[in-house]
Amino acid sequence: MKSPLPLLFFMTEISCPARAVPLLSPLRHRCQWATTLLLLLIPWFRANGNSLLRVDIPGLNLHLFGQTLRIEELYLVLLFSLALTLGFLLITLLLGRVWCGWFCPQTTLTDLAEWFAKRLGLRGKKQQAGKIMQQAVLQLVHLFLAFLVSANLLWYFIEPQRFFSQLVTGQLHYAALIFLLLAALLVYLDLALVRRLMCSELCPYGRFQTALADQATLTLHLPPTELERCIECGSCVRVCPMEIDIRRGYQVECINCGRCLDACRQVMAKRNQPGLINYTFGTAGEGVRALLNLRTLLLSLATLILIVILLLAVYNRPAVSLKIAVSHTAASRELKDGNRATFFNAWVNNRSSQKATYHIAARQADNREALPLRGRASDFVLEAGENLRIDFILVAPVPSSQLEVEFILLDRTGNELAITSALIK
Ligand code: SF4
Ligand code: SF4
Repeated sequence: MKSPLPLLFFMTEISCPARAVPLLSPLRHRCQWATTLLLLLIPWFRANGNSLLRVDIPGLNLHLFGQTLRIEELYLVLLFSLALTLGFLLITLLLGRVWCGWFCPQTTLTDLAEWFAKRLGLRGKKQQAGKIMQQAVLQLVHLFLAFLVSANLLWYFIEPQRFFSQLVTGQLHYAALIFLLLAALLVYLDLALVRRLMCSELCPYGRFQTALADQATLTLHLPPTELERCIECGSCVRVCPMEIDIRRGYQVECINCGRCLDACRQVMAKRNQPGLINYTFGTAGEGVRALLNLRTLLLSLATLILIVILLLAVYNRPAVSLKIAVSHTAASRELKDGNRATFFNAWVNNRSSQKATYHIAARQADNREALPLRGRASDFVLEAGENLRIDFILVAPVPSSQLEVEFILLDRTGNELAITSALIK
């Protein structure tokens, strides 16, 4: 049976004495490393002067591919998370645990730990006996990987350059330090003790995908019609990192890595026969047509709609925002001329990709009469993506009951960019 994904999984030809065998492993390794490197490097890349993806906790911002989302724009973050979740569900519904076997950094880390153990001659329990030095080196490798992963996680909150300078000068915030140590400890325990158990028993995504997989989900399959060609060599079982015998049919622990497929192909190539195991969408032999079902189509549609809504919401939001609040730290006071001075805090967020100069003005809402502002309300400059607090004083007549005041944010040429109002009593 031919693979249903000859284009998606373009196979690398590896020479074999009997014939050239198309193997998936080289491509899978590239996918694993590409994902891991991407996750390592994303915090180092910048767009519009900010990290490509970073949660700025002190500034209450999310830097997302050149856009800076403020906390008050949380709905965009929720939309983004929802689109990501639906996209992930869709991929799982279509491709099963392909993420686990081909992209997940946990799998890559475990592969790496096993590779080091093999290099040091520590693969099985028997091999480990008496090799103290090798054991120590392996633990050091685990520790290095653990701290690398832990630091990498922190870089999504603290820029890597700032992280290293704070670490070296001892200025890293204690919360960040605790996170670094705790995450490193967990990753170390994972590498030293847990490894594949994470995929089979602990990872919630692994459990979750079991509920999602249906008759059309991509899976490794050995058709019953091919079983009689099986020479019972056991290669497919020996190479399986999840210790599965795929000949017994689909099992939820299978991470769709394709190692068994490669192993069988190599064995059968020596007999000038095609491998017995293949990727198939479902097991009924429908191929890609199995994907044409209501569940897949509805989920694809919902994901697409959400992505379009998210893109429209992000790119059509105003380029600047203005928030105003009466100061809680300074009480308003009566002036000698009979007016009242009220202290305000304003937050201006320049969401554009360019530095800009702004100005805040005030007027009475009912008659649009201008009201004077004292303080920093004129000609202040904000860098791209910057959020700035401005403190100023509004001087207005003492109202008999209450006065509605409009605050207008203007650009250099006097264009009104944002308006917000406040009540003074
Ligand atoms: S059965 Fe095959 S695809 Fe599944 S985990 Fe084992 S080797 Fe990987
Ligand atoms: S590798 Fe292929 S031939 Fe060998 S036991 Fe597995 S399915 Fe059978």
